[in-house]
Amino acid sequence: MCVGDRLLPLVAERRRTAKAIKLRADAVQGVLRLTLPARGGLAEALALIERNHTWLAEQVAAWPAPQPLLPGARIPFDGNTLLIDWTASHPRTPRRSGDRLLVGGPADLVPARVLRWLQGAARADLTAATTALAAGLGHAAVAIRIGDARARWGSCARGRPGSVARIAYSWRLIMAPPPVRRHIVAHEVAHLVHANHSADFYALLATLDPHRDATRRWLEAHGTALHWVGRD
Ligand SMILES: [Zn+2]
Repeated sequence: MCVGDRLLPLVAERRRTAKAIKLRADAVQGVLRLTLPARGGLAEALALIERNHTWLAEQVAAWPAPQPLLPGARIPFDGNTLLIDWTASHPRTPRRSGDRLLVGGPADLVPARVLRWLQGAARADLTAATTALAAGLGHAAVAIRIGDARARWGSCARGRPGSVARIAYSWRLIMAPPPVRRHIVAHEVAHLVHANHSADFYALLATLDPHRDATRRWLEAHGTALHWVGRD
């Protein structure tokens, strides 16, 4: 549907537990979400959208701008920016040179190549940081997965005793400043010891990395925009 000057998908979902119709502008995914009870409510939902159009338009206008990974774009990286420096004759595999990312080959393949490069950089950085911190706590083997979860930056599953613990991260963390990334890593590694958010967990986390408040503030201010990188 059309909101302000943007054309947005409307994602409707029926939930048996929903008591009222809910409408939400999802700034991370860039969609409008409508929650309906198990049956009925469609006419009411349409009226709700109509009534709240101005409110929706205001929300959507405050969303971050999409940042496609195109030649000439400046993208966030490691707390700074990288200029996508494309020339057909550059090597096809992207290579970083200072604040530039040199990439060659056909222009239409640039977004996919840059995305793969960012994901590879995220994997290398997060794997090294996690392995080092986990080893300090006596956890030699951790399986690390780099994904694109929208709801959280990291997650940790210890599994059964004797099995290898698994930690997953969003590749988008590689765009954040190093201290933010370090704190997220410390948070997930602390879960290797405490599978909860208890006082003991936070006490351990504080010894691994004390920058919890600064990290939360940074992610609140800038985290959503990271989800718009690579989007047209
Ligand atoms: Zn946690």
